[in-house]
Amino acid sequence: WRDMNALMQQAMKRSVRPSRKLGIARRASFDWLIVGAGFAGSCLAERLASQRGDKVLLIDKRPHIAGNAYDRYDTAGLLIHQYGPHIFHTNSQQVFNYLSLFTQWRPYEHRVLAEVDKMLLPIPINLDTINRLYGLDLSSEEVEAWLQARAEPVANVRTSEDVVVNRVGRELYEKFFRGYTRKQWGVDPSELDKSVTARVPTRTNRDDRYFEDKFQFMPAGGYTRMFERMLDHPKIKIMLQTNFKEIEGKIRYRRLIYTGPIDEYYDFRFGRLPYRSLRFEHLTLDEEWHQPVAVINYPMEHNFTRVTEYKHLTGQISPRTSLTYEYPSDVGDPYYPVPRPENAELYKKYEALARADTSVRFVGRLATYRYYNMDQVVGQALATFRRIDAEIPRTSMQ
Ligand code: FAD
Ligand code: UDP
Repeated sequence: WRDMNALMQQAMKRSVRPSRKLGIARRASFDWLIVGAGFAGSCLAERLASQRGDKVLLIDKRPHIAGNAYDRYDTAGLLIHQYGPHIFHTNSQQVFNYLSLFTQWRPYEHRVLAEVDKMLLPIPINLDTINRLYGLDLSSEEVEAWLQARAEPVANVRTSEDVVVNRVGRELYEKFFRGYTRKQWGVDPSELDKSVTARVPTRTNRDDRYFEDKFQFMPAGGYTRMFERMLDHPKIKIMLQTNFKEIEGKIRYRRLIYTGPIDEYYDFRFGRLPYRSLRFEHLTLDEEWHQPVAVINYPMEHNFTRVTEYKHLTGQISPRTSLTYEYPSDVGDPYYPVPRPENAELYKKYEALARADTSVRFVGRLATYRYYNMDQVVGQALATFRRIDAEIPRTSMQ
């Protein structure tokens, strides 16, 4: 009780009246406690409540739902993404259909330019990138031969350097990838798994879209609105500004789903898994437009990696415009698992622990230490739900 009182006093200092919610949570008994209200936690809360009638308590230590996809209106009335630009794209009809239950969509194809040699050039590297950078007029067939003449074949492509050098050669690698990757990850591309830079293809046609997926849309009312609809269910209770560690053992629940960092859950017993962080600088300018596309990457200069102008994503009309600068950092909230062999090894230890631990299920980008996009996390959450639903009879939870 002393603990509980201290907790209540702490909670009363907070802004979202969690003290009242804590009262509800303490009295009630939940079928599920879900830690983290991002895509992983929210999709599972929604499925468990709506498909099985299970009672869910969803908590997040932040003061909002939607995890890293959280967006909000700033003081200029412009919708911005608090944790950097989130562009929805997927090839999965299943994921698209699922999210379509909670939002309408705005068609949007993402385009990015990179500032290289004082020019703004399409990235992924395509035919126009090369023609404009070198003042050439090559055709698609010619540029393929041009690239082959520069590529440095790597027998065993392992690293993020190998993957690019093997395809486009060292010069383009240094201009577009080396500096950006060093900034973003704090290590040289030669020390990162190939999967990181392999996310960005090289094209010999003039397609300048960042993604090639079948479905490319933004949620029409924004991500937070979509999450609000997802979580608007009488069987789901939400407690914000609530860390799992604070309430562990104080709330009654039958099963646990955890979507935060897995190493933290196990008190770092095998050591810390590295997660890369970012510092976001949000600002509004008194001009209608600042840049020609939503995102400009800066692979060669500056401490920031990219600048986002949100009106391109949202279609909002305003005489002002809001931007975000991203400064990579080792300290701060964990945003990116760092794909390197030694980190994969360390994660495997936690994964083995988790596999033997029947008291909790881990889902999501931080909990499964995978560099997943939003659609992949939704796919993972839906698959987890199907497994749960097959394993636990629906009636046992009522
Ligand atoms: P998160 O969204 O991180 O949610 C986990 C939640 O758990 C967090 O809200 C956290 O506060 C909470 N939590 C953690 N520990 C605790 C605890 N102890 N107690 C209580 N709560 C806790 N994907 C795309 O598809 N397209 C993009 O354009 C894109 N852009 C991105 C840009 C950036 C800068 C970043 C960082 C990611 C981007 N992503 C993008 C990836 C996307 O953000 C993730 O795939 C997705 O948000 C992961 O969802 P999640 O639920 O696994 O994790
Ligand atoms: N990358 C790069 N230059 C670019 C764009 C990407 O070097 O102009 C590399 C960098 O290592 C980055 C990775 O490719 O982290 C993946 O890029 P993506 O745009 O998918 O990163 P995210 O949106 O996940 O931050």
